[in-house]
Amino acid sequence: MIIHSQKRSFGKGCNVSLFTLGTMRATDNLNKMYSLIKRAHHTGINHLETAASYGKAEILIGEALKKLENHENIIRKEWIITTKILPKGDFNFVKNNFRNSLKNLKLKKIHNLAIHGINLSEHLDWVLNGEGEKFLKWVIKNDLVDQVGFSSHGSYKLIEKAINSEIFSFCNLHLHFLDQSKISLAQLALKKKMGVLAISPADKGGRLYAPSDTLLKASAPYHPLELGYRFLLSKGITTLSLGASKIEDFNIAKKLINSTQKLSSSEIIALNNIEKVGNEQLKSSKCEQCRSCLPCPSEIPIPEILRLRNISMGYGQLEFAKERYNLIGRAGHWWEEKNASFCIECNECVPKCPSKLNIPELLKQTHDLLLEKPKKRLWD
Ligand code: SF4
Ligand code: SF4
Repeated sequence: MIIHSQKRSFGKGCNVSLFTLGTMRATDNLNKMYSLIKRAHHTGINHLETAASYGKAEILIGEALKKLENHENIIRKEWIITTKILPKGDFNFVKNNFRNSLKNLKLKKIHNLAIHGINLSEHLDWVLNGEGEKFLKWVIKNDLVDQVGFSSHGSYKLIEKAINSEIFSFCNLHLHFLDQSKISLAQLALKKKMGVLAISPADKGGRLYAPSDTLLKASAPYHPLELGYRFLLSKGITTLSLGASKIEDFNIAKKLINSTQKLSSSEIIALNNIEKVGNEQLKSSKCEQCRSCLPCPSEIPIPEILRLRNISMGYGQLEFAKERYNLIGRAGHWWEEKNASFCIECNECVPKCPSKLNIPELLKQTHDLLLEKPKKRLWD
């Protein structure tokens, strides 16, 4: 059965559905990958996103697509596939990894190839002037990809530089209703006719699939996740990644699979209400995320830490904020490296804050609120 759903143009590549199946959480076994891809198809999704570094994901996708064609008549060539490679290694190393990806996915050519995690300036240098440049010339010359893009968890300036490099025609960014700090970058990319994929809007943006009572009440009559999705789609974000791990994860996507229309007045009221509730809870201690306080001599990511404070105290998403805070310093360049305990109370940031926040005090408070004692190990 062919499912009709709206598609949006994604950079220089093939058109994609408003939702993309992210396959990172589908890698347990072939049955799981098979049933999630099948459900994605019946939801109207035509775009799969994966990476060589997602365990067995590429192999399972290759197998699942073959089986779906044989058993369900879900035609293989109708899927648009994006995979990603890490920005490291010399030409031969990346070339071999990429050939492996094609082999695992059972493809001769991939639609979209993203450089996975341009998080540091050396990663962008690798693409623009290093071995990555040589590799990209090779894939393009040999017609092995339709287009090249990037994903990034890096700084605003680095992402801006990557977008302006004119090398990439799509990008995967962290874009969320509760964290709008990268929305202007998405708009810059869209203006340049790049495709934009929102990474994990359900989870990394505030765990909207498990909302607090505060958030649920504020977003009524909508579910916060539905509103978060609608917010991004109405901004023209090409496609939203859905990191499904079970069939029910597709429910809201199925409802919104053709939702390209502007926000309705009742959606706007609900979104404003969420903001209003957050403002009421935070009062004059809300960090407006303007970044004027940076740089901090101790390299503390002040806006990121205070954003977690906003999300936990303003919207009640405490567990989410704790998880993210306790990951600081433990995920290499994929997340922040210094938490609030590195503040030396030099007060350099204080006069730079237009909201006149007592930043060192708020950092300390956030640290006390979110830091978890290391969990006791079973064998201790
Ligand atoms: S007071 Fe703390 S956060 Fe502010 S600039 Fe000094 S070290 Fe950085
Ligand atoms: S200057 Fe103040 S409001 Fe702006 S990001 Fe820093 S702490 Fe937040």
